[in-house]
Amino acid sequence: MAPQVFVYIVHSNATVDDTALELTTAARKIIPDAAATAIVMGAGPDLDAVCKEVSSAYQEVWKIDHPLLSHPIAEVIRNLLVSIIPAGSIVLMAHDHFGMDLAPGLSVKLAAAFLPDAVDFESLTAGQLKAVRQEYSGQVSTHVLCDASGGVVATIRPGAFKADESRTLQGAVIDKSAAAIPGELPGCGRRFLKIVAAQAGDVDITKSDILVSVGRGIEDEENMSMVLDLAKAMGADVACSRPIVDAKWLEKSRQVGTSGLTVKPKVYLALGISGSFQHMGGIKGAPFIVAINKNAKAPIFQLADVGVAADMLELIPELTDKIKGMKG
Ligand SMILES: Cc1cc2nc3c(=O)[nH]c(=O)nc-3n(C[C@H](O)[C@H](O)[C@H](O)COP(=O)(O)OP(=O)(O)OC[C@H]3O[C@@H](n4cnc5c(N)ncnc54)[C@H](O)[C@@H]3O)c2cc1C
Repeated sequence: MAPQVFVYIVHSNATVDDTALELTTAARKIIPDAAATAIVMGAGPDLDAVCKEVSSAYQEVWKIDHPLLSHPIAEVIRNLLVSIIPAGSIVLMAHDHFGMDLAPGLSVKLAAAFLPDAVDFESLTAGQLKAVRQEYSGQVSTHVLCDASGGVVATIRPGAFKADESRTLQGAVIDKSAAAIPGELPGCGRRFLKIVAAQAGDVDITKSDILVSVGRGIEDEENMSMVLDLAKAMGADVACSRPIVDAKWLEKSRQVGTSGLTVKPKVYLALGISGSFQHMGGIKGAPFIVAINKNAKAPIFQLADVGVAADMLELIPELTDKIKGMKG
């Protein structure tokens, strides 16, 4: 019999994270007719709204409601998951900061195999799960064979699977609060103190429709002005990869990525950016990605809709002039 598949759903401020729909696709890659169960934890009316939204994409939604779950703490959630997930199951969650905190210990407690940061799967065959991971900023793909007979806890790279937007289901929402928390919610070594909002910059790149994003390929601070000119001509905002912030050529509020901001533009023009998963992890939705990179084998070309293998220092001024000319 095929193992049950569970998906841990990330949400905040009554908004379901985009990965919820990507993980249904991942579940079906593992077991083509999988009826995955979503697990949603939280507190109060927000939780009901989240469960309702998630039920359009999952056949069953397990809701766990407790005031102390309003701010998720991996240590607490791990113990609750162990009490409700049957042995031998496949558990999927996003490879984000929280997933990286939650998943390894969960796999130990469930005595399941641990598979971090998967970007692709082959369907489960004879208790063996084949997965693809990426190493060296996507330059090398590794194929991993995982013994799934005792279950698997896998974290999935955000953006690696296309979101299943069909939302044709009307899954049942089942309240598992009593089963997961029969008495007092056990305490743990960590407690929630407060949320510290990221420093706001002069431009909020999370709201931009067009982003011109610059990476280490720009080589010198003096060359930054050509990027600003291009962005101005395109009516775009300027974003960047982390090395540009580290070099203090742009402020942190412009950084896209897992330790920067998550953006959802319609068009993302990546200039001299290699396409590390930490950078691409900050680009959500399905923007039209145009990449200019002088290395034709740069990983970003695997993700871009349009790729131009060229020296950006030569191409950007030409492109800016062309756009200005077209506008004129
Ligand atoms: C915990 C952690 C968190 C991180 N968080 C983030 C994050 O939030 N955001 C982020 O961006 N990174 C983050 N990083 C860093 C990340 O791993 C990469 O190092 C970074 O994204 C690389 O930036 P880049 O693509 O600009 O530089 P590189 O990887 O150095 O790529 C530069 C690219 O420019 C190209 N190039 C060079 N010259 C030219 C030219 N003249 N014309 C055209 N192309 C040219 C090169 O071929 C190369 O592909 C994080 C790393 C860690 C460990």
